Amino acid sequence: MKIAIDGPAGSGKSTVARALAGKCGVTYLDTGAMYRSVTVACLETGTDVADAEAVAKLAQDAKIEFGTAADGTQTVALNGRDVTAAIRTPQTDRNVSAVSAIPAVREAMVAQQRAIAGQKDVVAEGRDIGTVVFPDAEVKVFLTADPKARAHRRAVQREGGDAAKDPAATADAAQEQQILADLERRDKLDSSREVAPLKPAEDAVHIDSSALSVDEVVAQIMALIDAAKKPAEPAAAYTPAAAETPAADKPAPKPAAKKAEKPAAKKPEKPAAPAGPMRPFHGNSFDDYYDHAMRDYPWNTRGFIGFAVGVVGGVTKVLWPWRIEDGQKLWKAEGGRVIVMNHVSMLEPVIMVVTEWVHGRRARAVYKSEFDKAKPLTWLFSRAGAFPVERGTADMKVVRRAREALKRGEDVLIYPEGTRIKSDDQEVTLHAGFALMAQLAKVPVLPVAIVGARDITTPTRKFPHFHRVFVKVGDPITFAELNVKGRKQQAKAMEKAAMDRVYGLRAELRQEHPGKE
Ligand code: C5P
Repeated sequence: MKIAIDGPAGSGKSTVARALAGKCGVTYLDTGAMYRSVTVACLETGTDVADAEAVAKLAQDAKIEFGTAADGTQTVALNGRDVTAAIRTPQTDRNVSAVSAIPAVREAMVAQQRAIAGQKDVVAEGRDIGTVVFPDAEVKVFLTADPKARAHRRAVQREGGDAAKDPAATADAAQEQQILADLERRDKLDSSREVAPLKPAEDAVHIDSSALSVDEVVAQIMALIDAAKKPAEPAAAYTPAAAETPAADKPAPKPAAKKAEKPAAKKPEKPAAPAGPMRPFHGNSFDDYYDHAMRDYPWNTRGFIGFAVGVVGGVTKVLWPWRIEDGQKLWKAEGGRVIVMNHVSMLEPVIMVVTEWVHGRRARAVYKSEFDKAKPLTWLFSRAGAFPVERGTADMKVVRRAREALKRGEDVLIYPEGTRIKSDDQEVTLHAGFALMAQLAKVPVLPVAIVGARDITTPTRKFPHFHRVFVKVGDPITFAELNVKGRKQQAKAMEKAAMDRVYGLRAELRQEHPGKE
């Protein structure tokens, strides 16, 4: 895996990149040290850094090697000679931006950087890693910090201290001022040069380290690395036919055709900001609702939802009297479960959320983010504990969010069919993330089926039909009982077992209640 960390001077890249490389046990590549080494070659040979041709020649002849000193720190050698100290002098600082702006110098350095990294896993830091050197890096971070914070860190470092470890550390004020001016000048040169200027890659995750400790930045990037290592399974095609015993008078369902899905998004998840406590009548964000236990919602929200559950539950129960078979399997349970269900109307999430609430349990419905176009819906759904998922992408943030809810003992309600299925002939492309959620939270999957709700509205009818609806709850399926080894294989087996069971339950309901679809 290639991890790219770009950013301006003094943003903490080196410290963070070194710590990350150590943690992950991979090569650390300090590309700034390479441009600095060429600068040292210029200074030592008295070459004018404005003489692009002469500097390019030095860069092409420069063989830069990294080593490790006895105390574990990194050493840098230029054509076999140690330049570790020489590359960090103020004189090198002042000249390096001019050297690194020369296209032929960059060409020579980028070639060496790629050669050093080879096929190995690396954490590389610089200015153009995510944009030029490794545009395919799995994790890209753009690390910034307030210029004053950067100058302070550098000034303390020059005096032998470490501002990250000692927040009270001070440095000579005049020195700090000088460093600030130098940093700003260098940032300007690095950002405005024509070739490979300092700029974030489009898919980089921005982290501002001004108020963060090194450990906090490292933890955030580790979360990105974890997310990049475990991309969610892309949507799987599924054939419900094998699971279904069709009612005799119904045509057999067509096997689902494999639909081309958007490839899983490569962009790693941005870590969610840690949620603070929620307060009544206060500007709680949608994320606050998504990330807090539903029981910790402010009292006014809980009151409102309790009232809404009563009204919506009462009205829908009168219009579509629903009966839940084996309901105790739904509400008499310990801990969270991923509930999967067939999807035919908007009634089934209502039935499930209301029923769970009435029995003292909490279900969080996962809905497609397309609904978020209507803000009042987002408002309402967030209060009801639901959260959106971006379909067709590896939405790891949602997977993690669901995992946390499940661990708290809340149920997560998922409609893997993604869209309401109006006919058995309709193509079904299952969204497979539910098995991953259950796997991460180590909870079972509970299959549930519904019949009678499909024809509530049809394209030819403006007004809904009012009639009985039946729901049937299956037994929870655990990963242990699948008896499959391997994380991916287990998830696949769970997807199949759970949906087979959903369609099996649906077939049972259809037989028990002829005429209901
Ligand atoms: O990261 P560091 O401050 O050591 O980099 C020194 C200089 O090297 C930068 O100011 C920039 O001019 C140049 N550089 C670059 N591209 C990189 C890394 C560093 O142009 N990938």
